[in-house]
Amino acid sequence: VFQLSVPLNFLGSVYRELRQSLLDMETLFNLQKVNVSIKEIPNAKPLLLNRGGEIKFENVTFGYRQDRPILRNLNLTIPAGKKVAIVGPSGCGKSTILRLLFRSYEVQSGTITIDGQDIREVSLESLRKAIGVVPQDTPLFNASIEHNIRYGRLDATEEEVHAAAKRARVHEIVDSWPDKYETMVGERGMMISGGEKQRLAVSRLILKDPPLLFFDEATSALDTHTEAALLNNINSIIKEKKRTSVFVAHRLRTIYDSDLIIVLRDGQVAEQGTHEGLVDRSGVYSELWSAQEMLFTDDDSGSISSPNK
Ligand code: ATP
Repeated sequence: VFQLSVPLNFLGSVYRELRQSLLDMETLFNLQKVNVSIKEIPNAKPLLLNRGGEIKFENVTFGYRQDRPILRNLNLTIPAGKKVAIVGPSGCGKSTILRLLFRSYEVQSGTITIDGQDIREVSLESLRKAIGVVPQDTPLFNASIEHNIRYGRLDATEEEVHAAAKRARVHEIVDSWPDKYETMVGERGMMISGGEKQRLAVSRLILKDPPLLFFDEATSALDTHTEAALLNNINSIIKEKKRTSVFVAHRLRTIYDSDLIIVLRDGQVAEQGTHEGLVDRSGVYSELWSAQEMLFTDDDSGSISSPNK
């Protein structure tokens, strides 16, 4: 029995390794959102960010199925170097906007431009290099914390990895674990919480330091205090480096300080403006704001400085 079980165990572990590396590949592909049907035009030029990263949607129509449009003749401008929030009811197409920008999907009609260049006419590599996304759910590799953060920029030094983790408010936690940055995560490693995962994703993004930053419900798993602290750090990076940043969010308290808030409904822009402007309009945003404010208790709101209205 013993003699037989050794090679079987060996085969089993080879099989597990093989299966695991396939899983890792899958994660990698999901992360890069590789979509084989998206093609480059011949001699595609690299994206040139020569106006600071202004994003424009002009008459964009898109649906995952031809007969069910999600975005309908959508027109919007995300000004260069500004913090912009996209809000609206669940399923209205907020994340879809980010996916189209990354060219995970192709628009059915209309045009998306970055600094005046149609994203269908630039190389995919240059487009995706210019964009950093913190998605709703970040895949982690079966590897160390260090490796998982360094995925943001492979040539980063250890100091840079730790500095990114500090700004993403996850360094102290990692440092308190017995194996620190060598702690293994993923399916074969330690279970880490949703909030820790989100902060690792932000660390990755800080390390990558791309000109365009997209946050898709990036801090939704954090408690109010940690979320406020992390958002402060993110805001200071955006301001310091004048990065164009887009936040998709449900909780308006996390985005009320944006330079521009775009409210989506039925695949179009229902209204847009600053927090103050939108509250004064007494439209969709104002209603949402009042409804959410009622949910906050005194305990809850303590750490985020309250807006005037
Ligand atoms: P939420 O706030 O709930 O995250 P959202 O506004 O970001 O929603 P999207 O994720 O952009 O919404 O999705 C818009 C619509 O498209 C939804 O009805 C969703 O079910 C549908 N959808 C999203 N992804 C796909 C897909 N890959 N295939 C088919 N339908 C999809």
